Amino acid sequence: MTPTPFSLSGRTALITGGGSGIGLATAKCLAACGAKVILAGRREKELNDAVAEIGRSAVAQVMDVTDTASLPGLAESLKAAHGPIGILINNAGINAKKAFVDTTEEDLLRIFQTNVVGGLALTRALHPQLKASGTGSVVFISSMAALFGIPWVSAYSISKSALTGAVRTLAIEFGPDKIRVNAVAPGWIDTAMSRKAFESDPQRKQKILSRTPLGELGDTSDIGWSVAYLCSPAAKFITGTIVPVDGGVSIGF
Ligand code: NDP
Repeated sequence: MTPTPFSLSGRTALITGGGSGIGLATAKCLAACGAKVILAGRREKELNDAVAEIGRSAVAQVMDVTDTASLPGLAESLKAAHGPIGILINNAGINAKKAFVDTTEEDLLRIFQTNVVGGLALTRALHPQLKASGTGSVVFISSMAALFGIPWVSAYSISKSALTGAVRTLAIEFGPDKIRVNAVAPGWIDTAMSRKAFESDPQRKQKILSRTPLGELGDTSDIGWSVAYLCSPAAKFITGTIVPVDGGVSIGF
């Protein structure tokens, strides 16, 4: 069969937070497009269960993105075990729901370390492999919280907003290396993280749905397919952009 421009056949992708939620769905979508996927995260059992779900094109890698000193060595050992990585999905992320006045410096630094510093350190460690692939692609998973104001998530929002600067700067610096750098900004997606938030605040869910033109929460696969597209040859002229995948919530009232 002739490969389509959406094929990821022959590519190897590392997905942080690939054991659950949006990361797992993204790994499934990339694998369905033909990529070999490396699912990375801290919890081994979660990763092994996810690998079993995906099948032979998936492998697990226990790692912590906040342990930045270990990342260059990890990048080398992954290359030795699985070949060069041409696709990096910086999806690992944490949140804290708190009023700004109760948000401590420790909260801010902890969230930044995972959501920003870790992903950037991994991107730096994988840069030689992404460049060598000739068609490197980095996708950060951002958030609506980087596009408009949302109360009670200031540290998270500030961290995701920082990724906007990262995407634009890296896209320019990496352009000559033929590495594209983009982000997907998910709207409200039905995951364990969002379900937990809605349990304690059902009015928030109602408010969100009433402002979403498509009137529903997204599926994790909605994010996965958009990421797969951004990594594919079909998107070879797209770099430096933040793509909202949000049922229209960011463009309307
Ligand atoms: P999950 O909690 O299911 O996913 C977070 C993943 O990140 C987990 O698999 C976790 O694995 C991993 N992770 C967290 N910290 C680290 C770390 N230090 N090192 C390596 N991996 C880590 O939630 P979601 O799937 O919802 O979130 C995924 C991304 O999507 C996040 O960046 C989130 O901000 C973003 N997002 C989610 C939205 C939603 O509605 N759910 C909306 C907008 C954005 P482990 O604990 O095993 O390390």
